[in-house]
Amino acid sequence: EDVTERRRIEERITHLAHYDALTDLPNRTMFHEHLRAGLAAIAGSEEIAVHYIDIDEFKGVNDALGHLVGDELLKSIATSLSRCAGPQDFVARLGGDEFAIVQSAVTSLEQVDELVARVFQAIRAPFDCMGHHLTTDASIGIALAPRHGTALDQILKNADMAMYAAKAAGRRTYRFFEPEMDAKVRERRQLEIDLRHAIAQGGLEGGLEVYYQPCLALKDDRITGCEALVRWRHPERGMVSPAEFIPIAEDTGLINEIGEWVLATACRDAANWPDDIRLAVNVSPVQFKSGTLALKIMAALAASNLPASRLELEITEAVLIRDDDTALAILHQLRAIGVRIALDDFGTGYSSLSYLHRFPFDKIKIDRCFVSDIAGPDGSASIVQAVVNLAAARRMTTTAEGVETEEQQRLLRALGCSEMQGYLFSAAKPADKVLELFALHRSRLAQRGGEESRRREAS
Ligand code: C2E
Ligand code: MG
Ligand code: MG
Repeated sequence: EDVTERRRIEERITHLAHYDALTDLPNRTMFHEHLRAGLAAIAGSEEIAVHYIDIDEFKGVNDALGHLVGDELLKSIATSLSRCAGPQDFVARLGGDEFAIVQSAVTSLEQVDELVARVFQAIRAPFDCMGHHLTTDASIGIALAPRHGTALDQILKNADMAMYAAKAAGRRTYRFFEPEMDAKVRERRQLEIDLRHAIAQGGLEGGLEVYYQPCLALKDDRITGCEALVRWRHPERGMVSPAEFIPIAEDTGLINEIGEWVLATACRDAANWPDDIRLAVNVSPVQFKSGTLALKIMAALAASNLPASRLELEITEAVLIRDDDTALAILHQLRAIGVRIALDDFGTGYSSLSYLHRFPFDKIKIDRCFVSDIAGPDGSASIVQAVVNLAAARRMTTTAEGVETEEQQRLLRALGCSEMQGYLFSAAKPADKVLELFALHRSRLAQRGGEESRRREAS
């Protein structure tokens, strides 16, 4: 009896080493063993397809409804996946919300597509869990052996890259591995290394610069402020657009250091501007997670002697999507010391009017996609009009972004928009050039004012 008991325990331990405790699916170790054996046995024209399946927004379910519901959901997904896989296929849970299927004896891509379709159908089927009606979706990456490699590590890496490509394509979809994905990932990684280097060198020495784009009042053409926009002069690539490196900085957390440097630099520069010109600085949602954002802003203001009332922060709705309460608390704290808060890129992304309810913004920046079609027949003008009315009712001002033509400016003025920003007046410029622009513009306005009063006297 002693021996049987010992054998039972040994079997249990072996089982635990190979199977996932929550779903009882094979775990990552067993998945590797199975795939390794499969790769070694590849023969003839048959292929193996490795499907990496990542559940979309699973973290949201876990955070919002709790781990018990999250666990139930994972168990149900495991059951559905096992059910939709064929007898030749091997389903495993790799950990967290990641699953995988090894599809053997593949002779055509249609077979792979069919399995993917069954997986999506299974995962998308609504599921009742502890009183919650849940629907989920997934991002799937697929690599084929021997087509995309025969070594275990390579196939795993390629399936993973394909899965990230599916995520990048907006989730809820699948992608087959392509060799260009490898090149892209490598390039991104190199850019990340270079960016770390640039920051370690202290911003400016590493090629980071801050440019300033003026914002003009539509009623009297005065410059009311400037938006700080970071620039990166890469030693080999030349100018890299913030649209390219800010997302990398956000993914890696480097945005905290970059943001702090931009803020300190911009406050220092703005302290030399005329008193009636404000400074606007973009703040990423990631910076709100660090918990020390308000302190850093106060430190930058103190070090530069820039009054808080001259600083405006531009945030996007993304700040208010998750961790609402923390972000709101930080915003209120900043508001209390006199910093202004603007809602950037309004009308894009998740944009919902409910965000205007959550925080009393000082300004709405109307995204340039509405401005560029404002003269067209598709109704962009009525959207701008609606935003302007909404803002006025809540005592917010509006800035139209990306104004490039006289006609757009004229229409915006007619619609009652308060300010404009765009290439029509000026692109973003280095600190010394923007100072020259202030002086030049001021004398232009004075001259125009003089001419007008002379004309009035004469008539
Ligand atoms: P954004 O905050 O919406 O900034 C406006 C972008 O529109 C800038 O692009 C600006 O150069 C561009 N722009 C201005 N006028 C015109 C125009 O008339 N026509 C067109 N087509 N474009 C115009 P930029 O400098 O490439 O910045 C892109 C985005 O990168 C910014 O969008 C902002 O979200 C982000 N970004 C830039 N600097 C920072 C920063 O210091 N911190 C953070 N967190 N994000 C930044
Ligand atoms: Mg902005
Ligand atoms: Mg914007």
